[in-house]
Amino acid sequence: MTVQKVLISGASIAGLSTAFWLGKAGWEVTIIERASAFREGGQNVDVRGVARELLQKMGIEEQVRKQTTTEEGTAFVNEKGQIVGAFPVEDSDGLTAEIEILRGDLARIILDALPPGISVRYGEWIEQVTDQHECVEITLHSGQKERYDLLIIAEGVRSKTRDKVFGDRVSRNELGLNMIYGTIEKQAGDDRWWRWYNAAGGRQVSIRPDNKGTMRATLAFKDRERNLAEIPSDQARAQLPDIFIGAGWQDERVVSGFATSKDVYFDYLTQIMMSTWSEGRVCVTGDAAWCVTPIGGGGSSLALIGGYVLAAFLSQSSSNGAEDLQSCLSKYEQWMRPMVDKAQKLPPGAPDLFFPQSKAGVGTVQMVLRIASFGPLRKLFAHIGHVADSKEQLPDIRVAQTTS
Ligand SMILES: Cc1cc2nc3c(=O)[nH]c(=O)nc-3n(C[C@H](O)[C@H](O)[C@H](O)COP(=O)(O)OP(=O)(O)OC[C@H]3O[C@@H](n4cnc5c(N)ncnc54)[C@H](O)[C@@H]3O)c2cc1C
Repeated sequence: MTVQKVLISGASIAGLSTAFWLGKAGWEVTIIERASAFREGGQNVDVRGVARELLQKMGIEEQVRKQTTTEEGTAFVNEKGQIVGAFPVEDSDGLTAEIEILRGDLARIILDALPPGISVRYGEWIEQVTDQHECVEITLHSGQKERYDLLIIAEGVRSKTRDKVFGDRVSRNELGLNMIYGTIEKQAGDDRWWRWYNAAGGRQVSIRPDNKGTMRATLAFKDRERNLAEIPSDQARAQLPDIFIGAGWQDERVVSGFATSKDVYFDYLTQIMMSTWSEGRVCVTGDAAWCVTPIGGGGSSLALIGGYVLAAFLSQSSSNGAEDLQSCLSKYEQWMRPMVDKAQKLPPGAPDLFFPQSKAGVGTVQMVLRIASFGPLRKLFAHIGHVADSKEQLPDIRVAQTTS
């Protein structure tokens, strides 16, 4: 195989894991990241299914396990904080997965494990993409024009380069859910459980442990008319008291915590569906290609798996010809599609059923959770966390002699 030159846009879980594996395969890898420095932030993500096996293959399993948030289970509570249903970690992929880790920690571990020779350029992004058949020409924000054999877009759910290249072939399914993540101070009574409270008005408040001596909270609400992720974060923050105070349980604690938290992250849950993940010498991976949202679950696991599968098929290409690349990209897509489709298929009634509007609706959800938390039903219910699994074997990757 001739050494191939690839540009990866986006230095988070998908971009970094693709870079890791293509670097191992002997490709010449450049990563660009729009942010001016490595993005440390982000709250809990989990590693599920086949992605656990990949941590081992990458040689980072031990580091990841050392940095987990050590969460012991998920408990649903009522407005007084009393537990209505508890789901301890009983299998690797339950509501709380065996491996829960902060997004920034996972990304940092992969960044530090990258094979030598991979450059990451921060504060850089793509202005223009021109596929010239024998190469793809990229015009960067800094003004440089560069040529690559392949461009991989891993820019997350709101990827601008994807939209430029694939235009109206990108469809979005907005779920009408705002989810706001942030860090708050630990207080007496906090333990190692993820506590989750449903309030009337389609609202949720949840608080979970981390490994940094703080707690990680989420506020969520259903409202198709209001998208807090598309307005400046200060304005979005200012709306939180209005929406959440009065919800009950620890509403005031989380809202006041978010007023000063340095890493509040707003998301308006949107599934991304694309009829194809590649065109010529450009392809997409991770949330940019198939965002499943936390309702589907397993976004970080799919990003890890997508990075490996893409690199594995690309490592099998015998030349840098456009047809050869296209055949590898089709195999990547064929392998990933069933897993992505499964994660994007929402559970029956979701998301509305999990975000009841009335008090009576909240009562019904609590009753269902109480019943579901008993005996064998508990394991069955926790099965909704089983994503990113496959009966297919992972494709083999051809690792270059010098980097193995
Ligand atoms: C800072 C941050 C915090 C997050 N917090 C949470 C959280 O609390 N809970 C949760 O469930 N998920 C969170 N996520 C999303 C989660 O990481 C992803 O759903 C999942 O891991 C898939 O990762 P991804 O690499 O495909 O996308 P992402 O993790 O979204 O990464 C995309 C990367 O591309 C970069 N990028 C975007 N546009 C461009 C561009 N034009 N040019 C170059 N680079 C670009 C972004 O800065 C980012 O680094 C967060 C993501 C980020 C970036």
